[in-house]
Order: sequence, then C-alpha cells, then structure tokens
Amino acid sequence: MKKNNQNTNNIPKKKILVSACLYGHCTRYDGESQLLRDKTFLEWKNRGMLIPVCPEVLGGLTTPRSPSEIRDGKVYNMDGDDVTEQFQKGADEVLKIAQEHHVVFALLKDGSPSCGCKHIYDGSFTGKKINGSGICARKLLENGVLVLAEDDMASAKVFLNE
Ligand code: SF4
Repeated sequence: MKKNNQNTNNIPKKKILVSACLYGHCTRYDGESQLLRDKTFLEWKNRGMLIPVCPEVLGGLTTPRSPSEIRDGKVYNMDGDDVTEQFQKGADEVLKIAQEHHVVFALLKDGSPSCGCKHIYDGSFTGKKINGSGICARKLLENGVLVLAEDDMASAKVFLNE
C-alpha cells in the first residue's frame, strides 16, 4: 500500500485579507466597527486565517475622520479636502500585504470608497449608491487579487473549498 507522507501540520494555512472593520476593529470613519457575524467568518477568524487591514488607516487618516466619497476619479471628504493621495497610499500598502501573504482572496466591506467592490456612494454625500469599486478594491482587482464583498460568503466558502 502506498504510504501517505503528507503531514497536515506542514500545510500552510490559507490566508484571507479582510476589511479591518468586518474583523471587528473600530476603524470606520465614525470610530465604530462592523463585525461580520457570519458563523464561517468567525471560525476563520478563530483559526487565524484572516488578515485585517484598513486602507484608510494605512494611508495615514485618523479615526474617527470625516467620511469620504469618490467624485470624478478623486476622493474628497465631507469637508471638501482632497484625500486621494492617502487613499492611494493605503491601497498600495494593502496590495503589498495581500501579495506577501499570497491571500486566496480579499473579503471587503461593500459601499466604502476604499473597500467597496460592488457599490460606492456617488460623490454627492446624499446617500445615493451607484455601481462601482473603491480605490483599494480596484487596486487589488487590477493586480489579480480576487475581491469579494461581505455578502458573498457563499462564494467565499466555494473558493476556499470549505
Ligand atoms: S476603509 Fe475599509 S476597512 Fe477601513 S473602515 Fe472603511 S470599509 Fe472598513
């Protein structure tokens, strides 16, 4: 009989990049978190598979901070400041982390001007959403990282073979 030499302890843990606010960190613009209360997500968290990142914090913005939206390809906060540079820096940092850890995919908070991968706000600060991606989600996608939203857990389980 063929001997199975595979030692399961040597199999590297699969890693998933996640928005820090979904992980439970208080990184949102209003200083709150947005923990994803999905059973499988919480299991992955307990197993140490999740790498929490907040592109806006990594880009140098403070928490809490003025909320931002994308308009004409640039990012402005509610006070009218152009914060595009900070958003791009944060996206670059997140991409580096994703590549270092060879993440299977990124699971990001939809609707955010950084993390949104299906919808973003339309730039008018009136609460209107449009189809589109945030700065960080787009950066990851352009560099070959699969990006899913928090309501894509069913697909996420399939991609992870779980
Ligand atoms: S930038 Fe992303 S991780 Fe940071 S608070 Fe916003 S949605 Fe969450």
